[in-house]
Amino acid sequence: MSECTHNCNTCGAKCSAPQTDNPHELSRIKRVVAVVSGKGGVGKSSVTAMLAGAMNKKGYRTAVLDADITGASIPKMYDVHGDVKSDGTGIFPLESKAGIKIISSNLLLENESDPIVWRGPIIAGMVKQFWTDVIWGDVDYMFVDCPPGTGDVPLTVFQSIKVDGIVVVTTPQSLVSMIVEKAVNMANMMKIPVLGIVENMSYVVCPDCGKRIDVFGSGKAVGEIAQKFSLPVLAEIPYDARLVEAADGGNMDSEQFDYIAPAADILESGLPIKSH
Ligand code: ADP
Repeated sequence: MSECTHNCNTCGAKCSAPQTDNPHELSRIKRVVAVVSGKGGVGKSSVTAMLAGAMNKKGYRTAVLDADITGASIPKMYDVHGDVKSDGTGIFPLESKAGIKIISSNLLLENESDPIVWRGPIIAGMVKQFWTDVIWGDVDYMFVDCPPGTGDVPLTVFQSIKVDGIVVVTTPQSLVSMIVEKAVNMANMMKIPVLGIVENMSYVVCPDCGKRIDVFGSGKAVGEIAQKFSLPVLAEIPYDARLVEAADGGNMDSEQFDYIAPAADILESGLPIKSH
């Protein structure tokens, strides 16, 4: 069977994957990783920004498509503001200081603090346009910061964008395990491989003795989910005030976060190159 080209009009692979949209004709995107979470506030956008930063530091051309339309936080994390340009056939992403390409609803608002009070279908349409109407150029790794949960907008992401793999972000409380399970089940229903789970805010490091303290217990819940679905835990991220400072200060692409390195290594070695 021939290899999937991610263009269903020309591909001879005859797979059963749902038909997705083609990106802009001037976009050449090799790999797309969606970052999802079962609910908001677990650090999904922070993990997206760290992963993109880590791949950019490895020398890959990296992009972030901020599909979290109503909770867009990626531009602030990279200190990117403003004036998105168009050439009539599409719009151009902006770039962070380190050269990560970014598109986000916040970059299109007159005032960044304006709320987005659109209904689901309009929001879903914008996500789709971020894929089809943005002139991304050459991208080795695109990260999609998905809206939280398993509603109609996350679904649009998987129906419009040809995602190669999903990273699930969660915190370690046992209550989240059911929500994570929903996200993993959604990915399975959409026939998109789940690359693994990132466990965020799972411990703190004592500033005096350096000892690891598992504030939420032993993190058993995440381990159990990982085991149940035979998924690797890609990274365990501590509660880290440096991360909050970097996010609030717009320095997410210049800071180094060593704890994300195992996840970045897996993305580097474990994702085949596709041409979108
Ligand atoms: P989500 O995208 O899931 O809504 P965010 O990435 O926006 O979550 O994170 C929510 C808040 O938690 C932000 O203020 C962020 O700086 C903070 N945060 C995320 N991960 C960590 C962490 N590991 N340590 C400390 N604060 C964190």
